[in-house]
Amino acid sequence: MPSSYLIWNGRVWGKEGADAILVTDGRIEAVGDGRTFEGFTGERVDAGGGAILPGFIDAHTHLLQSGLAECGWTLDLAGLSRSETLEALDAAACARARGEWLLAEGWDESRWTPSAALSRAELDRVGGDACIVAVRVDGHVAVLSRAALRAARDAIGSRSHLVDAATGRVREEAVEAVLSLVRPDGETVGRALAAAASRCHALGVTTAHVMSGWLDPRVLEKRARGLRLRLVAHVPAERTGELAERGVATGAGDDWFRWGGVKLFADGSVGARNAAFRWPYRWGGRGRLNQRRGALRDALAAADEANLQTLTHAIGDRAIAHVLRAHREARTRPELRHRIEHFEFPAAREVRAVRSLGLSVCMQPNFVGNWSGAGGLYEASLGRGRDARSNPFRRVLDAGIPLGFGSDGMPLSPLYGIASAVSPPRLGQRLGLEEAVRAYTEGAAGLSGGLPTAGRLIPGEKADLVVLDRFLCAETAAVARVRLTFAGGELVYSASSA
Ligand SMILES: [Zn+2]
Repeated sequence: MPSSYLIWNGRVWGKEGADAILVTDGRIEAVGDGRTFEGFTGERVDAGGGAILPGFIDAHTHLLQSGLAECGWTLDLAGLSRSETLEALDAAACARARGEWLLAEGWDESRWTPSAALSRAELDRVGGDACIVAVRVDGHVAVLSRAALRAARDAIGSRSHLVDAATGRVREEAVEAVLSLVRPDGETVGRALAAAASRCHALGVTTAHVMSGWLDPRVLEKRARGLRLRLVAHVPAERTGELAERGVATGAGDDWFRWGGVKLFADGSVGARNAAFRWPYRWGGRGRLNQRRGALRDALAAADEANLQTLTHAIGDRAIAHVLRAHREARTRPELRHRIEHFEFPAAREVRAVRSLGLSVCMQPNFVGNWSGAGGLYEASLGRGRDARSNPFRRVLDAGIPLGFGSDGMPLSPLYGIASAVSPPRLGQRLGLEEAVRAYTEGAAGLSGGLPTAGRLIPGEKADLVVLDRFLCAETAAVARVRLTFAGGELVYSASSA
């Protein structure tokens, strides 16, 4: 692209009557209509009558995992039926040497009938002699083959209470321990990040908040500029002390990479049956809190003191209340924009408390598309009433809580999330189109302490832009596709050349 060009013949989001944007040196220079730019003689990019939006900001991704699946290093089971899953595992296992690891991710029995989880017996029946690890879509549960259980015994060590050898089911920290044995090398990581960035661009994502997990965020720091994807790295809370020692605070970084916050977990997930609720699941049990309140409070206080934002995963109402009490006791500071991730089942009083504590929430609209509604996972696990009150986007916005959307990679796709929020299965989940788009742009930008983009189409902003193939309204959200994506004024995706 030349240093200055005009994107014209579009409908500029949020600016009535505007149909063109002038980009100069990677920034938005002006927004207007044909008349505003009458004298412009430089290069023109035809938006084909489609919507021009700010680049999407996905506030919760697992970029490396998505990339590893994208480039085939892990076996992607997302969307497969049970028999397809077993077939795919069989083919991949047969292609591996005896004792070699096979990591598969994304199975979801809530979409199978009957909806029974994958079992060790099934994995033992697939061909070959690979060590099979099949991680459930939520990442909180994995099923291992007999060979894999044997190979992982030492790594699991003292976490063996999280393992059920009969079913091959492994939970929470024990999953992490198993995965520590199945790590890609540096070259594979590079390939995976490139694949994930291309995928993001194709979906209109120009900024991704990355839950970096075991990956050293400095790898992301080094690569972000080359990937043309703005990255915000959130690291496990175990590294709070290390970051504090190095003097790394939330918001540090440059135009392409920022240090985010530290990630904590208060509970598990509904699908893994360990999200913590006040009332039991339909089959009994109320799930499980991951730590005592004192421990959570101390972790929050330590991060706050080190000027680090916190992001605490909390799904069930009991876990959410637990996190709020811990924040209150830790006296965390609102200016650090501490976040609660997922926030799927808050009661009304928890929504009010979030507001009064000055916290923000990062929610996943795609979850209602995936799991809410008649016959879905939420209803099957918790009953219709709790499903109907799940993911109360409307109440969150009405309470004045800063809301940003993220996909959690299930799947990566802002447009799917936006479509889920404007046409959800339950009334309390419904947002207007402007609200849903804002949560995936400006709202998501507001969740980070010092992001290098505001997620808005205004002069002076970085030219992170998406052009859709049509006018965007509630009815077209589900079918709209990305035509062009620009990051910092550079064309990073074009549907016609893809
Ligand atoms: Zn996540």
